Amino acid sequence: MRTQSPSSDLDFAGPVVALIAAAGSGERLGAAEPKALVQCGGQPLLAWSLAACFESKVVDRVVVAAPVSHLAQVSELVSSIASDNSSRVVVTAGADSRSGSVKAALASAVETFGQPAIVVVNDAARPLVSGSLIDACVAALGDADAVVAAAPVVDTIKQTGAGNVVVKTLDRASLWAAQTPQAYRYDVLASALAVPDDQLKAATDDALLVERAGGVVKVFSSVEPNPKVTTAFDLAAVELMIGSGSS
Ligand code: C5P
Repeated sequence: MRTQSPSSDLDFAGPVVALIAAAGSGERLGAAEPKALVQCGGQPLLAWSLAACFESKVVDRVVVAAPVSHLAQVSELVSSIASDNSSRVVVTAGADSRSGSVKAALASAVETFGQPAIVVVNDAARPLVSGSLIDACVAALGDADAVVAAAPVVDTIKQTGAGNVVVKTLDRASLWAAQTPQAYRYDVLASALAVPDDQLKAATDDALLVERAGGVVKVFSSVEPNPKVTTAFDLAAVELMIGSGSS
């Protein structure tokens, strides 16, 4: 049982499990296979976030949520990468929404490894995530219910109404673009995800569900580039960053 994170004075009883949401399609990327299996910088996209989980000093176990249609391929890939870590990682079937996949991965984590103390959620679509960013989010939990890696918004953000007419310019000093990793207390995340499917489908991240349930969510300023691969342009940009040593 872990009692202290090496990267902070955070005390918590019980293991830390990382969930990787990798069950999305490659549709917006224009790929014929699921996004997690698309090649990025010489290996499948999923391999980068999996390596970051293994690199983390606080993550004990990892659960990958994979598309039902590609469970065998993802399991094969994970086994080939995990080697010495193979007893620490399982692959499970995701769901038809991102938060549904996170919920399925969390259930699998409890069933396979027992109840964790802390859960870290990662999108497979963010290949530049590092073990140290995961550790920093866990270390930043303190008394909060969740910590979300985020970047300060640099653009001026306009809110529009009908006909694209601007109704408000938001104060960017208080705006953040939320990313993953996101660290949660287990009980907080489990109860936030215990909502009907339509609410899971509408959630763009799991922290939103925690906020709605009245939980305290903090942001952790992520200084390194940590973009999400959504389009073919994103993929090309991330490959350039990997090639130039930003990973
Ligand atoms: O679609 P989007 O890029 O927002 O997906 C973010 C992450 O959530 C991706 O890593 C994707 O694989 C994952 N996802 C999932 N299950 C879904 C949809 C998306 O695990 N049903």
